[in-house]
Amino acid sequence: MAMNTQGRPTAPTAGPAGGPETAAPKTFTGNRGLDVEEKLIFETGRLEATGVDVEDPGEFQSRLGAHARKAPIGLPGLTEPETMRHYVRLSRQNYAIDLGLYPLGSCTMKHNPRLNEKLARLPGFGDVHPLQPLSTVPGAVDLIAELGRWLLELTGMASVAMSPKAGAHGEYCGMAAIKAAIAARGETRSIVLVPESAHGTNPATAAALGFKVVPVPAREAGTVDPEAVKARLSSDVAAIMLTNPNTCGLFERDVVAIADAVHEAGAYFYADGANFNAIVGKVRPGDLGVDAMHINLHKTFSTPHGGGGPGAGPVVLSEKLAPFAPVPFVRFNPDGSGEFVETRKQAGDTATPFGRITAFHGQMGMFVRALTHMMSHGADGLRQASEDAVLSANYVKARLSDVMTVAFEDRPAMHEVLFDDRFLDGTGVTTLDFAKAMIDEGYHPMTMYFPLVVHGAMLIEPTESESKASLDQFIGTLRHLAGKAKAGAVDDFKSAPRLAPRRRLDETRAARQPKLVWSDPADEGRAEAAE
Ligand SMILES: *Cc1c(COP(=O)(O)O)cnc(C)c1O
Repeated sequence: MAMNTQGRPTAPTAGPAGGPETAAPKTFTGNRGLDVEEKLIFETGRLEATGVDVEDPGEFQSRLGAHARKAPIGLPGLTEPETMRHYVRLSRQNYAIDLGLYPLGSCTMKHNPRLNEKLARLPGFGDVHPLQPLSTVPGAVDLIAELGRWLLELTGMASVAMSPKAGAHGEYCGMAAIKAAIAARGETRSIVLVPESAHGTNPATAAALGFKVVPVPAREAGTVDPEAVKARLSSDVAAIMLTNPNTCGLFERDVVAIADAVHEAGAYFYADGANFNAIVGKVRPGDLGVDAMHINLHKTFSTPHGGGGPGAGPVVLSEKLAPFAPVPFVRFNPDGSGEFVETRKQAGDTATPFGRITAFHGQMGMFVRALTHMMSHGADGLRQASEDAVLSANYVKARLSDVMTVAFEDRPAMHEVLFDDRFLDGTGVTTLDFAKAMIDEGYHPMTMYFPLVVHGAMLIEPTESESKASLDQFIGTLRHLAGKAKAGAVDDFKSAPRLAPRRRLDETRAARQPKLVWSDPADEGRAEAAE
């Protein structure tokens, strides 16, 4: 097997250790067709070279003192074309929504209309600096206020904190407001109830705020049983964190009964709004008894969120929790303008905000995209996007239910559909093998092994933006693979992916022992000293 200096296989045809090789011919270069096998930038560049012509600074007085670098920085130099090629080649090894369907579940917002990008790049928005005095950016503040107003309208809630920068950050904000509200009542409550199907950030948020997490088991039908919640309620319970629609793609029909029971026990209802996309324009969370809910703008209202960011997680709050929202917050003026204020003190207001959770006012780029998304769709368009997302998921479910096993067959899916691995019983093929085989067919895998309440979970979320033709092709591919697994082609699955730039990787080892520092094989000693 051809290896480069870092011990990585260079030939795309090379199999994993001990694995079967494909019949594809090896090439002299390791390149494949017009896809160039790209080396690391350190292997391509030259330490002594530079791509720019900077004049020698001559004599100067350094003010860095002890911080001045003692050894050369060790960055490889490349020409401009070499630099461009390096990054463009790397980008070609990435899968992207602009290349094909992305079935990941618990995710949403895949295609982002180009209009939203265009507006986010307008200099007046794109170039706003977080340290700029607010008096110099009144238009940006008005935009944030306008977006806040849309969020309140869509959720039927009383107040909104715009500054949290992701869903998980919003959870922290909402739960911190709940903690402050309980403290203001002179109570201490130490327990937060979290259903077993919840996203991992829910228990993590509760734990980070010092609460004890008590799980609520899912019932057979995949939803939360109000009786199971009631059985766990006490005067020590601060809140329940509930996702609706839940991560099994099911609407929690007993949500109002759950909210009533929670309120009766003096606790709060935190809703994880990551799946809001399924119900925008159909249901207002405020009408369901929600006290606090984050909205992942990057999942529901535009913003590409691959690669872990950036995101934005504004939190809507009920009347009861509004006084505890963090500073700074936007005040809506009667003339429609917005204003950032550092204190909520108004006549009769005795509560205090729990503090500040970010240095600045939020994620401007995401705010512009979200408001553009809302205004260009309009109320009817947002509602239709939700309906189409749900329709797409149910179409996938209906067309695959005879060859794959739907986890919760008897209920319509919301915006995503959950399969389990019963259809692979006895084939020797696992959910992971099935997902890897999708890569060879040109599809990014769906979300695997989440939620944990279902064995070998495969969570598919097509969203509203896929055409029927594109869904049909995806469905055809999964039908083909399911048939192939049942026909005994287990070896094909075990050796997949065979056509990707890299074969099956040791993902556990990559996560547990990541190699984060490049070491120059010619000079191991120097690199180790730098680690
Ligand atoms: C994505 C997600 C989160 C976390 O949101 P981030 O923006 O990634 O921090 C929380 N809950 C659910 C159900 C999610 O899908």
